[in-house]
Amino acid sequence: MRILCADIGGTSIKLGIVTGDGKIFDFTEVATEGKKGGARVMENLISGLLAFEGYDAIGISTAGQVDRENGSIIYANENIPGYTGTKVKDILEKRFRKPVEVENDVNCAALGEGWLGAGKGLSDYLCLTYGTGIGGAIILGGKLYRGTGGSAGEFGHMILHPGGRECSCGKKGCYEAYASARLLVEMAMEKDPSVTSGRELFARISYGDEKMAEVLDEWSEEASTGLASLVHIFNPQALILGGGILEQDTAAAALEKKARDLIMDSFQNVRFMKANLGNKAGLYGAATLHLK
Ligand SMILES: [Zn+2]
Repeated sequence: MRILCADIGGTSIKLGIVTGDGKIFDFTEVATEGKKGGARVMENLISGLLAFEGYDAIGISTAGQVDRENGSIIYANENIPGYTGTKVKDILEKRFRKPVEVENDVNCAALGEGWLGAGKGLSDYLCLTYGTGIGGAIILGGKLYRGTGGSAGEFGHMILHPGGRECSCGKKGCYEAYASARLLVEMAMEKDPSVTSGRELFARISYGDEKMAEVLDEWSEEASTGLASLVHIFNPQALILGGGILEQDTAAAALEKKARDLIMDSFQNVRFMKANLGNKAGLYGAATLHLK
């Protein structure tokens, strides 16, 4: 089976044909232009899809809360104004005359990791991605747990500091307001304004910069607190952690060590793993919507 897949992200729409044996052909990217609104995103998506031929079905991974039954967008934030309510499945099925399935991008990434990545062979795991915010997905008994509205796994909005820092969701004290990759860089900049990126931060640590090592330590303290709670709630086989900073061995090791200090003995068999499909996870996940 050949599935034409698209992964609609903040800045680009990734496209490619994914085969039933897990290969990607003709990978390409087009601009999302999310700020120009949902209608423009759909135009860009359609013109991207039109460049392909020779496929059996279409799988879409997209930002926003997705109604899996009818393939429409229940809710999307201000990154794509007017995207809420878009009937993605209907529009594409009418245009392309092929079966179309649509799922949220974080969920797709988790499904992709389960098919061909770090989650291969596992039945119970949690995925967390540390970026501007913290995205999450839950796989239980080999299946994606979606919740009633398809939004389960919003780990970034566990409130760990009541009345604390303002979060992008409008509430205060959420996990992602303390433990996102963005916050790590902000903390570093506060201590030393000459540090402007995560890459710079890790370079300084490797040269023995103690101030920056302290920043990483403070961040892992926050990040580990959320992870330990999740391990106690779900008792998963593994945590699959993604995002640029987790590719840094220093960050991954610091986080695991601090989290293990907080995790009860009977839960210590949990494995800390790195997501390993990178920016292709969403495309692979979108293909699985037709493969199962
Ligand atoms: Zn929040």
